[in-house]
Amino acid sequence: MILAVASGKGGTGKTTVALNLARAWGKPVQLLDCDVEEPNVHLFLDLAGTEREIVSIPVPEVDESLCDGCGECGKFCQYHAIVSFGTTPLIFAEMCHGCGGCALVCPRKAIREVKRRIGAVETARAGDIALVQGRLDVGSAMAPPLIREVKARLRPGLPAILDAPPGTSCPVVATLRGADFAALVTEPTPFGLHDLELAVETVREIGLPFGVVINRSGSGDDRVRDYCAGQNIPVLLEIPDDRRIAEAYSRGKLIVEALPEYLGIFRTLAEKLLSGAAAVPSAFSPLFSP
Ligand code: SF4
Ligand code: SF4
Repeated sequence: MILAVASGKGGTGKTTVALNLARAWGKPVQLLDCDVEEPNVHLFLDLAGTEREIVSIPVPEVDESLCDGCGECGKFCQYHAIVSFGTTPLIFAEMCHGCGGCALVCPRKAIREVKRRIGAVETARAGDIALVQGRLDVGSAMAPPLIREVKARLRPGLPAILDAPPGTSCPVVATLRGADFAALVTEPTPFGLHDLELAVETVREIGLPFGVVINRSGSGDDRVRDYCAGQNIPVLLEIPDDRRIAEAYSRGKLIVEALPEYLGIFRTLAEKLLSGAAAVPSAFSPLFSP
């Protein structure tokens, strides 16, 4: 079972939910930090055995002696990473997604591929949690290929939790594809609702079953609950607006460790979402309401 934890914007508690589900599960689980521009899951875990692999993508290099400036490569590249004006093409390597298409369409075989580093993938362990995280190099905009490298380390048969990047853009889609279920984390505010609606559109577009986690419940209004009820979206969990949770977070502590009374509700949700049960109910009552 692959569970993606996502949200329409940053700062909603997405990483908190992913981490606490992983810890509360209490059995071997993979935790993938796919927020490769700003990975922060590692800050909350006591890690051992860290290993690092550099990740590169293939970018084109043109042999000027073979190129006749036909421009076919530039016409093919949808990212405008290779451009020809009837001359040897210009290459903007930082925009290249490494798809290899330009080399394939070049009629004169003038393009060869060279490696360009985009970041690294790190693996480590924290008890039952096997962490995989991507770290995008500063200045690199190639989050999706690095996320795919992170996900390539998923071990079949072992439950996995993917901590998605915030928002609804390409890196989020790269994270969500292939998941079995998405937990969308939001806050009970008008902004939270707006971003939740965008996230819901995205998962519906992908065709991914999903539910909602309301964080800081009790601090805002009922619009998110009403929206979920109106759209028949299951509210999986409501995490109360508890000052002690914020204090634990600021000390780098997990909720389920600092406040053991929350262990049961996270464990119950982890059991429902990670156990590989054939289907998550289309609607069920929140496990916790303030
Ligand atoms: S490899 Fe793909 S993305 Fe990169 S320049 Fe060629 S066509 Fe464009
Ligand atoms: S497709 Fe090949 S030959 Fe044509 S402009 Fe590009 S590199 Fe040159």
